[in-house]
Amino acid sequence: MYETVIGLEIHIQLNTKTKAFCSDINDFDSEPNTNISMITLAHPGALPKMNQAHIEKAVLLGLAFESDINHYNFFDRKNYFYPDLPKGYQITQDKEPFCRKGKIKFMSEGEVKEVRIHHIHMEEDAGKSIHDQNDHNSLVDFNRAGVPLLEIVTEPDFRSGQEVSDFMAELQKAVKYLDISDANMEEGSFRCDCNVSVRKSGVNTLGERCEIKNMNSRRFAKNAIEYEADRQIKEIESGKIIHKTTLLYDPGKNETRPLRKKESENDYRYFPDPDLPPVILTEDQIQNIGQQLTPLPLARYETLRSEFSLSHADAEFLTEDKTWTDVFFSCARKMNHPKELGELLIGKVIPYCKANNTTINDVADDSGYIAFVKLILSEKVAKSSVYQHVFPAWIKDTTRNPEEIAIELHLIKSDDQSFLDQIIDQVMIAYPDKCKEYRNGKKGLIGFFMGHLMQNSKGKADPKILQSKLEVALDNKK
Ligand code: ADP
Ligand code: MG
Repeated sequence: MYETVIGLEIHIQLNTKTKAFCSDINDFDSEPNTNISMITLAHPGALPKMNQAHIEKAVLLGLAFESDINHYNFFDRKNYFYPDLPKGYQITQDKEPFCRKGKIKFMSEGEVKEVRIHHIHMEEDAGKSIHDQNDHNSLVDFNRAGVPLLEIVTEPDFRSGQEVSDFMAELQKAVKYLDISDANMEEGSFRCDCNVSVRKSGVNTLGERCEIKNMNSRRFAKNAIEYEADRQIKEIESGKIIHKTTLLYDPGKNETRPLRKKESENDYRYFPDPDLPPVILTEDQIQNIGQQLTPLPLARYETLRSEFSLSHADAEFLTEDKTWTDVFFSCARKMNHPKELGELLIGKVIPYCKANNTTINDVADDSGYIAFVKLILSEKVAKSSVYQHVFPAWIKDTTRNPEEIAIELHLIKSDDQSFLDQIIDQVMIAYPDKCKEYRNGKKGLIGFFMGHLMQNSKGKADPKILQSKLEVALDNKK
């Protein structure tokens, strides 16, 4: 038996307004080569300047995962030649990353797991080479050159592709909660390199690893890791040894292919960037940034389960978006009816938001949601009518009191005894044969009677009261 061992290097593109070292706009949707001042293009003499937001987001990420934050930070140049790299080097942190250690928790296969962080460092992105738009030439877009990145390097703590996929989902959500990145994998703002090795069960030392570059889909990462572990096991079983290799994954063929042997990798000639002064952080500054911390999705999931008794599926669904859990917690803490609140938000409001491309905060404020739940709790309107009739009217203007809407629509339940007796009588007179069959033991007919009664009551009768009255009437009136 073999065990798979995986460590990740995750690149997170930050959602700052401007680039890491100049005031060019950081925007994925811009026309190619429009956000490229002479600093981005590295004209002679152009000097970089640190973006404060880059540092703040870096510190926030470190604090969120209990990393040790470095107080004295400087930058290094990583030198290599590539057409999408106008400076001929990338500004990064090699010797001293701004964060070391820390841990990230995530749920996988029904368990809370934990992966240790080796370090997190700041760097800038390169531009983008485009090979598929012109038959004869490669094109290059420098808009991305200089966009701020954070790279998280984990310890080799993952044991399966599934764990990696679940971890990526959690981290993606977490950086959105922290407002660090949009973590959009298709647009490349959240991508990861997977280092994979295998070893015989029971062995403590690590096997030689291969690194699969630039995974930008959770499913591909899982498949690539599983394929690669399989490949390594087959090699070892046939007596070969694993060579440290950089690989690319081909999703079409579901296989990994060598990009380059690791040993022959460039020597990047790292050295401290003389153009950037060191960034010295005080404890006060770090504490200040820490004010922006917010409970992460997994912690919120746990609160939804333990404090509010939501189901696994509902709790997981709500944590997809920070604003959903924000609204849930603030309403639930004001009135304490989590079940009904969950039904309203998960069953109706969030689907409405998705369908209409709006947000939970734009639809209503807390008092609106609370008023709606109160109408449900009051039992003045049959539950089916609340959702079928009151909700669609209310959602058009959530500042209106839902109870007034119910009155206007004549939906307030009638507990008027004579009204209930009257409609029961009518139905029994209309179906004398069914009454007889019921009394002769065909109790299932209760559904038939109730269907008619609910229709005749136009949603105004409480089904529970109505049914008990009906049963009495059927048994007594011979
Ligand atoms: P490099 O800079 O050459 O990529 P690092 O030592 O920084 O090497 O390691 C990068 C990543 O590889 C880390 O996420 C680490 O956990 C992982 N890693 C290191 N050794 C192994 C191994 N034997 N198997 C799986 N992953 C590994
Ligand atoms: Mg690496």
